[in-house]
Amino acid sequence: MNSFRLASILLLAAGTAMAQTPAPAQADATKPAPPPAIKSFDLSAIDKTADPCTDFYQYSCGNWVKNNPIPGDQVRWARSFSLLGERNRYLLWQELDAAAKSPSSPLQKQFGDYFAACMDTSLVEKKGLTPIEPAWKQIAALSDAKQLPALLSKLENDGTPDGFFEFEVGQDDKDSSKQIAQIAQGGLSLPDRDYYLVDSKRFTAIRAQYVEHLKKMFTLAGDTPEQAAKEADAVMKIETALAKASTSRTDLREPANRYHIYTVADFQKTTPAFDWPTYFHSIGIGQFDSLNVATPEFFKVLSALIQSEPVPAWKSYLRWHVLHGQVTHLPKAFFDENFDFYGKTLAGQKEPTPRWKQCSSATDRALGEAVGQDWVKQNFPPQAKTSMDKLVASLEKSLGDDIKTLPWMSDATKKAAEEKLALIRNKIGYPEKWRDYSSIKVDRGDLIGNLHRSAVYERNYNFAKLGKPVDEKEWDMTPPTVNAYYNPSFNDINFPAGILQPPFFDASIDPAVNFGAIGVVIGHEMTHGFDDEGSQYDGQGNLREWQTAEDRKAFTERTDCEVAEYGSFEAAAANGDVPAQKLNGKLTLGENTADNGGLRIAYMALLDTLAAEGKTINDKIDGYTEAQRYFIGFAQVWCQNQTEQASRQSALVDPHSPGRWRVNGTVQNFDEFGKAFGCTVGKPMAPAHSCRVW
Ligand SMILES: [Zn+2]
Repeated sequence: MNSFRLASILLLAAGTAMAQTPAPAQADATKPAPPPAIKSFDLSAIDKTADPCTDFYQYSCGNWVKNNPIPGDQVRWARSFSLLGERNRYLLWQELDAAAKSPSSPLQKQFGDYFAACMDTSLVEKKGLTPIEPAWKQIAALSDAKQLPALLSKLENDGTPDGFFEFEVGQDDKDSSKQIAQIAQGGLSLPDRDYYLVDSKRFTAIRAQYVEHLKKMFTLAGDTPEQAAKEADAVMKIETALAKASTSRTDLREPANRYHIYTVADFQKTTPAFDWPTYFHSIGIGQFDSLNVATPEFFKVLSALIQSEPVPAWKSYLRWHVLHGQVTHLPKAFFDENFDFYGKTLAGQKEPTPRWKQCSSATDRALGEAVGQDWVKQNFPPQAKTSMDKLVASLEKSLGDDIKTLPWMSDATKKAAEEKLALIRNKIGYPEKWRDYSSIKVDRGDLIGNLHRSAVYERNYNFAKLGKPVDEKEWDMTPPTVNAYYNPSFNDINFPAGILQPPFFDASIDPAVNFGAIGVVIGHEMTHGFDDEGSQYDGQGNLREWQTAEDRKAFTERTDCEVAEYGSFEAAAANGDVPAQKLNGKLTLGENTADNGGLRIAYMALLDTLAAEGKTINDKIDGYTEAQRYFIGFAQVWCQNQTEQASRQSALVDPHSPGRWRVNGTVQNFDEFGKAFGCTVGKPMAPAHSCRVW
């Protein structure tokens, strides 16, 4: 239910996270079709007219980029993530569709019904707004701001999204064995606080379009134009005030900025207008005396706003968030208007995502570890896990060797780093123990009811963790997901079965290509344990400095080099009077550090593997040396096209750099690249001075 994670997990890419956001869409006649096989090493993608030493991304991906325009239902089209994501979703759809038609187990009946309810658009039309009316009636009855805690808890107990703030149970940053209550800012409907606050022509226009969107949605829901205008203004005013009070994404990357332990009594003193004991008591969580308030300033402002804004404004705000939070499950008129603003205007998407894709993803979100059980049986053979275990072990060895030879680190810190590395745990494929969803009642004729019951289940599952031991076997991604992550509080790396397929991992290809693709992915996740954020946690997952003061200083000098390097890259070129959008070097620092470390240690692991097989890095296949195949295999993971709108949005909200810079930013920091392609020093991909952290 809560999208904001207090102890952030560090992903490989935003692609899947984007696909899992309820994308704007409604009925679509597009028929599912089997996707094509994906080549692990694609000679036809290479643009031989480009000089690899000048622009390696263009060389490796140029022809692919030219020949693969973005499909209408996408905002980003990537050779690896999108193609494999579409393939996995198609396989998932086949399973869901079969289960919806003739289930052969109670589990299949449950996810088959969930999927069928989502696909039944004629019933969605017939029901109109009826499914959200009970929530709106409760909001209409609000007569005093003092009733807000009781109203919010009632809505949340019913599984209704209200958008006020994020509250969850999570690991204590300073004692990872403890699970504590945590609360953080929330309440915005635009992608980032900047959208409300930045004074530029582009954002001023987006804000005006957002207010128009609010008006249209309220009008569709039955308001007169005058009422709708008033409600839209009230929502915009509250959200803008909350945006001003919000901590920026960049500042939230610093763990200390999101760790503030308060007793409930002290927290209450800072926010007099909202009765926390009443709220905490009514949402059905166990007793607790203290909590982590990630963003204290936000709650002070929220409290002051509750006192200054009139009750009708809060009613408008809540009506909007209830509507917006489940709009993809409402009738077509609402879908279309939502798509028009969030899809077309904000992200440059031309057509809505077909319904079958929407419903496959929605079922995966709600019942992922039920759907995943059959999925892994069919798509993840045991030998794939064995091969991955071997690959991970070879990368662990390389990172260990790398740490030993780091030029800037003292022996004491090296020892601490090695200890942390030894404690990293690996999770590969799917959970050892599947979650039990049997308590979620799924009704084939009640799409929104299913959504609410799933939300309540997730919330209760999370609240039940309070004060309990941590379950280290738990997963944050479902098996078909094309992504991977490192969790600093667990100190573990996680690779769902969904990414352990071509073009990332291919049993039939030479090791250089596999090391360039999945090898770098594994190295990337391991390096997250040692990036600007992950390096502040020790091997037990506790926020604790383990570097000497001098080493931390040297570390920061080196990460500052990457901040400046990536901060000079353009995410979107100037367009008319809209200026170019540069990357945020600080927001993307952790991911860039992970990419750089991953490329280096996977290369070292490849050398070891080739040596063990009696081969060398200079052996040739298809006219390319193993070293060249390694770098091309790596680069081709990141071939992509993206709409200008999505590129600009990502530059503000996504901690990952775009494909071009994940490739060029990384290879220019690694000497072995220049050697592999015979680049003279001074060429863009072989600069005389480059950045290195790990
Ligand atoms: Zn990452």
